[in-house]
Amino acid sequence: MASSGGRNPELRKDSVSNRWVIFSPARAKRPSDFKSKTPTNSNHLQQKCPFCIGQEHQCAPEIFRVPPDDPNWTIRVIENLYPALSRSLCDPSAPSSDSGHRDIGNRVLDGFGFHDVVIETPIHSVQLGDLSPEEIARVFLAYRKRIEQLASRDSIEYVQVFKNHGASAGASMSHSHSQILALPIIPPNVSARLGSMKDYFEQKGKCCICQIESEDLVINASTNFISLVPYAATFPFEIWIVPRYHSAHFHELDAEKAVELGGLLKLILRKMSLQLNNPPFNFMIHTSPLHCNNASELAYTHWFIQIVPQLTGIGGFEIGTGCYINPVFPEDAAKVLRELLGS
Ligand SMILES: [Zn+2]
Ligand SMILES: [Zn+2]
Repeated sequence: MASSGGRNPELRKDSVSNRWVIFSPARAKRPSDFKSKTPTNSNHLQQKCPFCIGQEHQCAPEIFRVPPDDPNWTIRVIENLYPALSRSLCDPSAPSSDSGHRDIGNRVLDGFGFHDVVIETPIHSVQLGDLSPEEIARVFLAYRKRIEQLASRDSIEYVQVFKNHGASAGASMSHSHSQILALPIIPPNVSARLGSMKDYFEQKGKCCICQIESEDLVINASTNFISLVPYAATFPFEIWIVPRYHSAHFHELDAEKAVELGGLLKLILRKMSLQLNNPPFNFMIHTSPLHCNNASELAYTHWFIQIVPQLTGIGGFEIGTGCYINPVFPEDAAKVLRELLGS
């Protein structure tokens, strides 16, 4: 079988997640043969889609819309009709709260939190990558506004912004949307990332994400952002978009940089769609815990966006070991995506 230059398998450790990844090119065809067998086809019109403009009455309550109070909205942030956590439970940090079993020592917390949906466009057939850089920027700024609202609550420790595109990536609605989950805990991947980035900082005196600019892994770059395949990518064609300036929190993003980021995300989504046959994908914003404000912690945490096309499944080996097998070397994936569209 044709492998990428007949390379031997290799183990690489990612300095951000502190996880080992096995690169095993013999399992794959050429990197350019890696296409989704289940492309997302969401252009069909869905009857009575509650996310479409004019169907607002079918949705859970609205939190805000852009522009405010405009019936011709471009973005709506609403409550999730089927939330993973409940906003109506007593806020554990509220002074009146006095529940006996809310004891971290017992590893039980009330399921308090916020689970919101961001409807990215009023039009059913439009996908995030179809929007202009300015329109994508408005989606980022809606995330920012909502994160700022959630950050005002002491009990919320972390906010995860994510997007599931395509049914096999977990999207239950084909209308383009993303989700925001605000948690009363710091999730395990975030703790592991912070620990790993702290170790790197203590050893080298530098933020590890500020250091990752490596030419053969870069896909595209703009003034303030860089898109690349990480050195120890967990998944084939996994892509990160990273600010080139040091910034701990996504919600520090300003309006001007949001447009630049929108342009780069649009380009990456277009390349992924063309090269990988419009695959289902997940997109995650990795930021820092909300109440991390001390200078030493802010020095080694750095937000970024991770985009993962769903091309391979997870099997027993991955579940058993927490170690992933990636059949495409990151430099090969980066080359395929860099050279597309002559950019
Ligand atoms: Zn719709
Ligand atoms: Zn940094």
